[in-house]
Amino acid sequence: MLPKSTNVLIVGAGPAGLACAVSLLVNGVKDITIVDAQPAGVNSSRAIVIHARTIEELESIGVAERLVTRGLHAGYMTVRAQTKTLVRADFTSLQPYSQYPYALLVSQTETEQILEQRLNALGVSVLRPYRAVSFEGTNEGTSVTFESGEVIKTRFLVGADGARSLIRKIAGIPFRDPSTQKNPMEEEPKEGESLQEANARLGRPLVIADVHLAGHIPDCINSTDLATFLGPLGFLLLVPLPALADDPHGRTVYRLSCPAEPGKREVTKERLQTVINAAFGLPKDEMPIIDNIIWASRFRVRSATADTFWTRVGGGIVALVGDAAHVHSPAGGQGMNLGIRDAIGLGEAIADIMSKDRLAIFAKKEYATQRLDKFSNERRAMALRVIKMTKVLTWATGLEGDNARLARDWVWWFMGRTTFVNNQLAWSLSGLKIGVY
Ligand SMILES: Cc1cc2nc3c(=O)[nH]c(=O)nc-3n(C[C@H](O)[C@H](O)[C@H](O)COP(=O)(O)OP(=O)(O)OC[C@H]3O[C@@H](n4cnc5c(N)ncnc54)[C@H](O)[C@@H]3O)c2cc1C
Repeated sequence: MLPKSTNVLIVGAGPAGLACAVSLLVNGVKDITIVDAQPAGVNSSRAIVIHARTIEELESIGVAERLVTRGLHAGYMTVRAQTKTLVRADFTSLQPYSQYPYALLVSQTETEQILEQRLNALGVSVLRPYRAVSFEGTNEGTSVTFESGEVIKTRFLVGADGARSLIRKIAGIPFRDPSTQKNPMEEEPKEGESLQEANARLGRPLVIADVHLAGHIPDCINSTDLATFLGPLGFLLLVPLPALADDPHGRTVYRLSCPAEPGKREVTKERLQTVINAAFGLPKDEMPIIDNIIWASRFRVRSATADTFWTRVGGGIVALVGDAAHVHSPAGGQGMNLGIRDAIGLGEAIADIMSKDRLAIFAKKEYATQRLDKFSNERRAMALRVIKMTKVLTWATGLEGDNARLARDWVWWFMGRTTFVNNQLAWSLSGLKIGVY
């Protein structure tokens, strides 16, 4: 059952909502509530990488150690043409600056489980399944209504409810692609539009899948190296992940991503194998073979950020974290990382604001405005920066056609010849580049 009132209500228990809840508790905020529309364990595992800066932030809320023990430590993120290295982001070069000089490979499902276990150990459970359907401002805060008919009054409302955020929508915060100024979440295939027409207008979908592999696994697919292969059918990301926790045979899971098959809505084993064959160009007996698909999905790349990450509604404060505040291409594995860092930062900001509760009303309000503006400006600047970087990475790995492909491979190869470029790429992806974020 839901409480009638709470200091902070977090809507959404994905990685951002969970990290926000843990951050609030660790920073001494009492009486928080976190809800999710889904029963436990329903979200699919999307993100697979946690970068250095995020691990440092997770350490501050007591979650890093278990993740670091559970995940695989990749020292490099490499772009290859077949088995030849073009460019290699060298995370080991971060060693003098971070305790975590690697990209941590761990499934989003496990990251969420570990965050939720920490939350439970701090005495709070996620209340599920509870779907928020509306909210309105009151004199003291906001009043949130759920599908069940129950209502919670809250002082702080956190929208951690993903890219299609209802909280963002009701708060009236615009969400736009910085290039087009349009909300990409509102751009769907139209009725009667063919798949080709929709793809031409909205961009070709990508496939994401977790698979088991048999056959020969080339040396260039290994757990120290997050590898993307550029081939004639587009890019192929193929990365080993830890075995499923309930797999008695402990078989390595491989995360695979590539462009979707033109004109097809389904993801088939045959098509994924064709992409692998084209990307590696090896003789049949030296080729990795897809044994089974654990799960697969298609998605379109969209980029957008909220105009602001907080606003006032009535006497309440509404703030956004994670995909509710920004979305972008998965290139470079940045989305969940940004979301977790937003969430930990918001937890600290709300704790700071609540610590000023003894101030006079005007001073308290002024402090809250300044603190949340700081949070929003910093996090939004970071989101814009990541959108820019991931758009370039997506473009640079997605060109099709032989001439364009050769030119692209040459540019990657030329850039990758210098240690400076390889180290800079690692810095940008790690999140360490702009120290304070
Ligand atoms: C295909 C794909 C691949 C990706 N790969 C990567 C990657 O490699 N690396 C990376 O860092 N990121 C990646 N991402 C992005 C990453 O998955 C997201 O950034 C991350 O899940 C965002 O977390 P979140 O908590 O903000 O939102 P979500 O994970 O979307 O969670 C939102 C939660 O809110 C709940 N909710 C929604 N509406 C309501 C409501 N009205 N009431 C109650 N609850 C509600 C939902 O049930 C859900 O549990 C990928 C994304 C996609 C789609």
